[in-house]
Amino acid sequence: MDGPQVPILGLTLEGFLAAAKERGAFRSMQPQECARMYRAFHREGAAPAGGLPAWVHDGRRPVNAVHVDGETLKFTLGLDGGLETESVVIPMRHRDGTVTRTLCVSSQVGCAMGCRFCETAQMGLMRSLSPSEIVAQLHAARFSVANPWAGGTGFEVKNIVFMGMGEPMDNLDAVMAAIRVLTDRNAGAIAPVHVTVSTVGRTDGIRRYGDLLRERGFHRLNLAVSLNAPNDRVRSEIMPVNRAEPIARLMESLLSFPKRPNAAICMEYVLIPGVNDSDADCDEVCALLRPLRCSLNVIPYNPRRSSPWPAPEEESVQRFVRRAIANGQFCKRRGTKGRSAMAACGQLGNERIRSRRFVDGAAETVQIRVPGAPDGPAAG
Ligand code: SF4
Repeated sequence: MDGPQVPILGLTLEGFLAAAKERGAFRSMQPQECARMYRAFHREGAAPAGGLPAWVHDGRRPVNAVHVDGETLKFTLGLDGGLETESVVIPMRHRDGTVTRTLCVSSQVGCAMGCRFCETAQMGLMRSLSPSEIVAQLHAARFSVANPWAGGTGFEVKNIVFMGMGEPMDNLDAVMAAIRVLTDRNAGAIAPVHVTVSTVGRTDGIRRYGDLLRERGFHRLNLAVSLNAPNDRVRSEIMPVNRAEPIARLMESLLSFPKRPNAAICMEYVLIPGVNDSDADCDEVCALLRPLRCSLNVIPYNPRRSSPWPAPEEESVQRFVRRAIANGQFCKRRGTKGRSAMAACGQLGNERIRSRRFVDGAAETVQIRVPGAPDGPAAG
């Protein structure tokens, strides 16, 4: 059999069987056997004795490092050329005492968006990940990463959030292809309602992601938007993307986003002392969000390396949240997890590979540059 290998982690079962047929795989293997192999690989982490057939591309990546901070675990997977993905396993405690785990995945190595408060921005964009490399993060979390709490390997993962390294809308073809695999009941089997894509506010991406929600079976996917400012002046200062896509344009795209009834878009607000944390900022952001059904998620700033700003005082975080609620805005404070392992929000970014900027070659994606976004790391 000639031709490229078929990526078992990068395709849904339907896509995998179609590609297998095209490769002539069914001359030596029954379609049912092929489907069983696919399910066992995704759902149990099991490969046939003797390994996968030669026509299958085994997309698993070696776990390079694991860092634990409290209950949060960050792991890196090795990619070709010495690059790495970074992912975080975060426990969520529920009122009834149960704990579920959320996996925060990366969609790129580094990021081109240059947000000034973000560790990943310091790397610049190295390359985008393929669908297979995104799904490999779930596969590793479930089957390969050492579990220091339970012993052995692997975690049960309930939620996936695209909040790791990279701007998902900058690699949307691969992200949407990965979502199809992550939610395929034969593969990742994560319910769409438990998948969230977080964007810096790329309106073309929000529109295309909205188109995916209009497809049968995907209407419960979630959207999160990194807002971080009450107005264009502050936002353009800390998020270069805002110079190309100002807040009014972002709000317009969110108002027409096809969210399901009673669902709320999550607006993320990294609270940075002296930048966006005053009472007036709070009132302004609440007024801005009033027409939108959304949840304001306040995230205390985690100082990146060489940060010009400190972390906010707990009192100022609470004051901001209280004031937002008093303004009638549904508002939550997100706890800071993983700070010492540099696994917290906006802190993913690998020092070792930072010097290797702009390795090219997004295998299955096309890069879209945002006018106004920097080509290199943020000055910070
Ligand atoms: S906050 Fe997100 S979009 Fe902004 S630079 Fe960091 S990873 Fe990129």
